[in-house]
Amino acid sequence: MFGTLSERLSGILSGLTRRGSLTEEDVNAALREVRRALLEADVALEVVRSFTDKVRERAVGAEVLKSVTPGQQVIKIVNDVLIDTLGGEGEVIGFDAVPPVPILMVGLQGSGKTTSTAKIAKRLTERNKKKVLMASLDTRRPAAMEQLAILGTQVGVQTLPIVAGQSAVQIARRAVEAARLGGYDVVMLDTAGRVTLDDTLMEEVAQVKAATSPHEVLLVADALTGQDAVNTARAFDARVGLTGIVLTRMDGDSRGGAALSMRAVTGKPIKLVGTGEKVDELDDFHPSRVANRILGMGDIVSLVEKAAQTVDADKAQALAQRLAKGNFDLDDLRMQLQQMEKMGGFGGVMGLLPGMAQMKNQLAAAKVDDKMIARQVAIINSMTPAERRNPDLLKNSRKKRIAAGSGTSPEAINKLLKMHRGMADMMKAMKKQKGGMLGKLGGMFGL
Ligand code: GDP
Repeated sequence: MFGTLSERLSGILSGLTRRGSLTEEDVNAALREVRRALLEADVALEVVRSFTDKVRERAVGAEVLKSVTPGQQVIKIVNDVLIDTLGGEGEVIGFDAVPPVPILMVGLQGSGKTTSTAKIAKRLTERNKKKVLMASLDTRRPAAMEQLAILGTQVGVQTLPIVAGQSAVQIARRAVEAARLGGYDVVMLDTAGRVTLDDTLMEEVAQVKAATSPHEVLLVADALTGQDAVNTARAFDARVGLTGIVLTRMDGDSRGGAALSMRAVTGKPIKLVGTGEKVDELDDFHPSRVANRILGMGDIVSLVEKAAQTVDADKAQALAQRLAKGNFDLDDLRMQLQQMEKMGGFGGVMGLLPGMAQMKNQLAAAKVDDKMIARQVAIINSMTPAERRNPDLLKNSRKKRIAAGSGTSPEAINKLLKMHRGMADMMKAMKKQKGGMLGKLGGMFGL
């Protein structure tokens, strides 16, 4: 699932992160490729269109393109729009009502309806400690009734005894009554499926719904059928009204179109997904996790989020201005180091702080790692404000004092000073480069 789509999207987007600056045309070119990838994944045209429009609208804003990490910002936007398209927060099935709570399962034959009914019953029994009764309303296929009974035994859930000659509505009423008398919390009604959508099927489902007032009406749809699954959902929703979707065969190699289009086209949430034939292969549908699986860029997304939360825009701006003038003292270095600490360390944060991407080699040469960051900050903390502003004051006696104060050694202080000097020199060199990095630092606040 999502394999090809995921590869395509991450290829397109990581191309963006490799560039230091982005123009509107770069974003548009990338979005044309995203559009093609989504269409090839069988995502509905209207969904593709609104998806790329939304990304473009948010991404070509001045702050994003001018930020120091435009590619990462665009990835975050794609991720957010993807989550919205998939359904935002994610919803679970509800059973919070006066018992017995009826849950109606509808869908085409072969979609995995009966299997999903048993999977949900098992989950409600085991996870939610509910007493569940299942009933098959498939009067035309005795085999379907048998199948539900067998699954019931397998998952330890009661099924309604089969009485020959009853209509679907009669069985449904009997099931609700039996559930009431038997003190059940939930009664799951597995309606009959047909190979294709037809009026008789819809009419029967509508009658069962009218007779039982179900709390949930869940359509079971096969992800492998792509757009057809979405059209089926639309038809069922128009005729009987749905509360959610169970998307099955997410373990198969569907291109992803059904999962991506379902919510946007039908307005109904995917509540659960089937991930295999076994009775416990059922998962909640978490849009953010699915988006992460599709993009495969969770690291970048969480980094951008973290930076947005932790980078103090005022401080960053003040720093950017000082850097633009070619000033970079030990106070500035301390701020950079502290910012990195706050963001959880050295690893991937480099590109997110002003000037940091460019300092990477300097830091690497000085072998700064996460533990070292704390030590470096401690050293700077042990200096006087005058020393921080003017490191040239730091002669041997002062170094000894600072080493004692920070629990380090004069060598460690020399190392820090050497790193700082390298950075400061680089800042000066960058200032001389017209239109270089420093000119762009103001854009940082697009974070
Ligand atoms: P129904 O006709 O809609 O009730 O469909 P069934 O529940 O009988 O399922 C049809 C077939 O699909 C069975 O072989 C199930 O084991 C299989 N199936 C159901 N859900 C899934 C799923 O999520 N993944 C896979 N791989 N197979 C599934």
